[in-house]
Amino acid sequence: MKGIGASPGIAIGRAVIHWKEQIDILREFVEEPERELERFRTALEFAGEQIRETYSRVLESVGPGEAAIFRSHGMMLKDPDFVGQIERMILDGSVNAEWAVKQVADSLIQIFESMGNDYMKARSDDVKDISDRVIKLLLQVGGIDLSNLREPSIIVARELTPSDISQMDREMTLGMVSETGGKTSHTAILARTLEIPAVMGVRKLLDEVENDDLMIIDGETGQVFVNPDGETVERYRERLDRYECFRKSLTEVRGMKTVTLDGVEIELEANVASPKDLDDVFKNDGEGVGLYRTEFLYFDSSLLPPEDTQFEQYRDVVVAMTGRPVVIRTLDIGGDKKLDYLSIPEEQNPFLGYRAIRLCLDRQEIFKVQLRAILRASAFGQVRILFPMISSLEELRSAKAILEETKEDLRSLGVPFDESIQSGIMVEVPSAAILSDHFARETDFFSIGTNDLIQYAVAVDRGNEKLSHLYSQYHPAVLRLIKTVLDNGKAAGIRVGMCGESAGDPKLIPILLGMGLTEFSMNPSSILQARWILRNLRKGDLEEAALKALSLGTAEEVEEYCSRLLQTLNLCR
Ligand code: PEP
Ligand code: MG
Repeated sequence: MKGIGASPGIAIGRAVIHWKEQIDILREFVEEPERELERFRTALEFAGEQIRETYSRVLESVGPGEAAIFRSHGMMLKDPDFVGQIERMILDGSVNAEWAVKQVADSLIQIFESMGNDYMKARSDDVKDISDRVIKLLLQVGGIDLSNLREPSIIVARELTPSDISQMDREMTLGMVSETGGKTSHTAILARTLEIPAVMGVRKLLDEVENDDLMIIDGETGQVFVNPDGETVERYRERLDRYECFRKSLTEVRGMKTVTLDGVEIELEANVASPKDLDDVFKNDGEGVGLYRTEFLYFDSSLLPPEDTQFEQYRDVVVAMTGRPVVIRTLDIGGDKKLDYLSIPEEQNPFLGYRAIRLCLDRQEIFKVQLRAILRASAFGQVRILFPMISSLEELRSAKAILEETKEDLRSLGVPFDESIQSGIMVEVPSAAILSDHFARETDFFSIGTNDLIQYAVAVDRGNEKLSHLYSQYHPAVLRLIKTVLDNGKAAGIRVGMCGESAGDPKLIPILLGMGLTEFSMNPSSILQARWILRNLRKGDLEEAALKALSLGTAEEVEEYCSRLLQTLNLCR
């Protein structure tokens, strides 16, 4: 069986099935809606207590970054919109509380899921987790006790929530596998942080697995074996040993410089979405913030966040990074990432639509507020501004002109900001990559956004699971675009970094280095691994390998070549 590798590592062990009752919730008429309301409020209170306990436990055993998920669960339980809708439904419709919770939660989940993007998917998982908790309390049912397993096991479930993981006994949990979920769910993020191998999205998993079956899961490739033969077990035991040796060696590079064997200095930075992610950045030794996705701030409120709120968040990140670079990307919203309160009309092709810089150039009042907040934060450290989705020189010129106007406004008011602040562009649309020689003359830096560059170069929606086999960072067309950007950036003497997921892909890192990339920004959890790999590479030796990869015709050939290359580099993995 195969699913999505959601948290790397290999687990070999016996299955424990985490059955969660499939509860059928029926609509019932209640005679005394006020009493039903009381019942709901009591369940809400208990849920709040449970969440507070979980928060403290995770805070102590894992860290504030991970615990933050439960703080936002707690906040959601107090959200007047969410709670108010449920209460109104109980009172106005005289319905049972569990029905009202399910209705309101389902409609929210549907809205989040229809947006088809990763952030919103994570939000819908949160709503599901919270509403399940409240419904279970109302019905007084629960699943197996994950904190009290008899022996080290692999947890198998239809669905695993962050709350489930937070209960797991790390010593007894070898790995986990579920039918639903994907790489960017909060459950997957927690699993990666806790270093629990995980595979998600395995279809028909529960039809195939019984309690106590011997299982192997590979959290990198997504491979799942049930009652495998002796030879497979042996092969995976060897891989497990190698993987553990590799994990141990990662701790050795903490605190070390990221420099290749032939002395090329590399900048290894982190992608963040809010100040909450900074703990992960420090834990993993990030050398700066290479991409601050500011959208979260806008998603997390029900109105456009005011300038001061934005300023405070940006400043917190900048101050925490103590002089190290912080690249703040301006609002990358629209298309798949919808903000209800902006009322953007439905579009036929949202990915090609009114989004990111296009929206900001059109709604300058929104753009200027953000630019002012970023500029003000620049007085506290080393900030760079990054414009997303640039597809033409005109857009870049307009964005820069608005930035200059905003600077002028601040100057006239005597508000301090960094006068030498740099601004750059995301290169994530093929037109920007192809024209990168022109762009390089008019901007301070490039940041290659492979997540979107791939989808636009190969015309594959990055969120469409049906097409995921076509969406590949190894596509030779993508590699050629990256090479063009690197060469043009180098010729013009500007910095070129990469902040898409490809920057943290161990198989691609040698080729990217060979092509000349020296600034990588990635998920904090990939940083030490990338440093370890880069410290074992010699750029001079990889230039030819990069040319070879660029000469291949299919993504499959490139991937195969990259895999072999990584193996020959003798990294114990
Ligand atoms: C990208 O497109 O590669 C990128 C880093 O931005 P996002 O994933 O936020 O679209
Ligand atoms: Mg992008």
